[in-house]
Amino acid sequence: VNITITPTGEDKTITIGHVIILRNITIFKELDFAKTNFIATVSHELKTPISAIKLSLQLLENKETGTINEEQKQLIESIKEDSQRLLKITGELLDISQLETGNIHLSIEKSNPYQIVEYAVDAVKVQTEQKLISIHIDAEANLPMVKADAEKTGWVLINFLTNAITYSPIQSKIIVKLKADNEQVIFQVQDYGKGIDKRYQSKVFDKYFQIPGSNKSGTGLGLAISKEFIEAQNGTIAVTSELGLGSTFSIGLNSV
Ligand code: ADP
Repeated sequence: VNITITPTGEDKTITIGHVIILRNITIFKELDFAKTNFIATVSHELKTPISAIKLSLQLLENKETGTINEEQKQLIESIKEDSQRLLKITGELLDISQLETGNIHLSIEKSNPYQIVEYAVDAVKVQTEQKLISIHIDAEANLPMVKADAEKTGWVLINFLTNAITYSPIQSKIIVKLKADNEQVIFQVQDYGKGIDKRYQSKVFDKYFQIPGSNKSGTGLGLAISKEFIEAQNGTIAVTSELGLGSTFSIGLNSV
């Protein structure tokens, strides 16, 4: 900060000194690291019992423990959905905290883009059926293999697809495109849902960001984690959207 004076009768200011404020933030960094580690531990510990709850519900549902009536079946279904949501939240908290502490390791290999898309589309089958949404795969033939962590890339596509399903009306269509572009293979998920206002488009990849008034049960972490996963593979991630018309999320991965 500059210290200046203006002598009486004159209109110019003279700098007579400077103040420099130095603050040791080591303690804050340590606290932040401890907090992130704590989140990682808690979310990791929560995953096991939640998975156990899901498994018990499956046993109940499969009548292995006796017959259940329609009302009980609906209750089981709703607890199952809630535990799935809890698993998603804890998984995202674990991923983001591991990314922050540098504890995520990618295994980048020669991967097949068609297989990654197939795996992701298959993983959201139940969700699409529930909303009567149809997914069309529009893939160029003879695409090269990509340098990618297939599991993490699949996770990103599932996240794009889950969002597309969440923010689209029932009976709508989602298009998954695969195409070559220079040295990259582009994976695109296009929906005809509510779309994203221009002013929020650059923010959706920020940690904990949720568009005001949107899906309250989410964490605002899915796209932030997606960005980290893709950039760690030297890939690119982007969104284009028209409010009220739909959105297209895409990633570009380097071909082999
Ligand atoms: P969340 O878990 O809250 O969905 P994300 O990071 O996946 O978090 O998404 C951040 C925000 O971006 C969401 O809250 C939502 O408002 C918006 N968004 C993401 N995908 C879409 C989409 N396909 N259509 C409209 N809005 C979307």
